[in-house]
Amino acid sequence: MTPEASYDVIVVGAGPAGSTAALYAAENGASVLFLDKKREIGSPIQCAGFLPDVSEVQALLRDARLPYTLKNYPDSCALQRIETQRIVPPNCNTKEFAVRGTVLDRRRYDQFLAEQAARAGAELMIKTRVTKIEGTTVETSGIFGKHKIKAKAIIGADGPNSLVAKSTGLAPKPKSREVSVAIEYQVGNVDIDPSALEMYFGKDFVPGGYAWIFPEGKDRANVGIGIRIGIRSGMAEKGISAKEYLHRFMQDHPLAGPKLKNGIVMNVIAGIIPVNGAPERTATENALIVGDAAGQIFATNGGGIPPAMIAGKVAGETAAEFAAGKCRLEEYDRRWRAQFGQALETSVQARKLMDGIMKSDTLMNAAFKLISPEQMKVMQCGKLPGPVKLGLQALNRGKK
Ligand SMILES: Cc1cc2nc3c(=O)[nH]c(=O)nc-3n(C[C@H](O)[C@H](O)[C@H](O)COP(=O)(O)OP(=O)(O)OC[C@H]3O[C@@H](n4cnc5c(N)ncnc54)[C@H](O)[C@@H]3O)c2cc1C
Repeated sequence: MTPEASYDVIVVGAGPAGSTAALYAAENGASVLFLDKKREIGSPIQCAGFLPDVSEVQALLRDARLPYTLKNYPDSCALQRIETQRIVPPNCNTKEFAVRGTVLDRRRYDQFLAEQAARAGAELMIKTRVTKIEGTTVETSGIFGKHKIKAKAIIGADGPNSLVAKSTGLAPKPKSREVSVAIEYQVGNVDIDPSALEMYFGKDFVPGGYAWIFPEGKDRANVGIGIRIGIRSGMAEKGISAKEYLHRFMQDHPLAGPKLKNGIVMNVIAGIIPVNGAPERTATENALIVGDAAGQIFATNGGGIPPAMIAGKVAGETAAEFAAGKCRLEEYDRRWRAQFGQALETSVQARKLMDGIMKSDTLMNAAFKLISPEQMKVMQCGKLPGPVKLGLQALNRGKK
């Protein structure tokens, strides 16, 4: 690269959002550079890897235009097929519904996505950190040295602590920012149902959050917990860390313990999940944010891969159009919101209603009794059926 290199589009971050944006920008004729600070794309993993089938995503987000890479990926990216999802409330009266999807090997999937973008013509630089953004110039430092690179449009796909969002004034105000912290283990030697995702609720094991078992094979699983910091952290017993809650869940939970207690921990994964939806603006005249950087993640279940990639497609297409002088970059904001903005907002509302209820196991048991398995399924992807909303509001009022 020459010191004065310039591109139509620079994408910061090569996760699902960034690689999808780079793919669609390149396919639409833009010159694209995408870079990631990681020495290996997709590693370390910071995800449990569940990806619903496109039929499920499209049924829940009817207006979304899905990128083809959400469906057409190599079998080697798939660890386990899923047919069922189980929800286990504190009293263990389990409910279940059908869900078709796959637990992915996120490392391989992220590499596949990056490769698709590069094959379409986008230039990839790994182990390169963006250290500063000034106007439309990006400063980088990494294995290929230090550079100042210019672009017509900068796409911030740099995850929940996005430098692009902070540098362009698009980050949410620190006060209005809410995140969950997640810790998870990849565990061998477990006695699980390999075709079922399981989510567990209850104050003793996951105060104000939930625990999960996502199968990665017949006797291997991703087991984790996500707990909100902020309001919900107040629910944890003093002095007990998220890791200790995870151990307690794996050893002592009446349903999960027998499945997990002989598990052999192979990998520890931790990360944060934004749960407050998108900021008011996600684009300026020459920069935009996408994926976790833009809070595009369903607050009810932490599902962020599909929205990151749907918005990534919009970001790439819009940036290429902008670079060709055919539209303003701010169009991106209107376009992605038209596809799933309402669903994202509703998932935040549903999460807020559940916050109140999670303070009491009795209320949680009542809420789970009230909601049918089908209603639970649609709630996860940003629909809040009227009767469920009224029921949850009534339970919340009752607790005061
Ligand atoms: C523990 C956990 C479990 C999860 N489980 C699921 C799940 O089962 N299903 C699901 O759909 N979602 C899940 N999610 C959410 C999902 O992982 C994210 O929503 C998704 O990865 C978002 O993609 P992204 O491209 O926006 O961000 P990321 O995947 O975070 O990618 C951002 C990239 O930007 C790079 N980067 C950051 N800063 C810079 C910089 N300054 N310079 C260069 N590069 C930079 C990073 O290295 C990273 O590769 C989970 C999240 C966590 C934390």
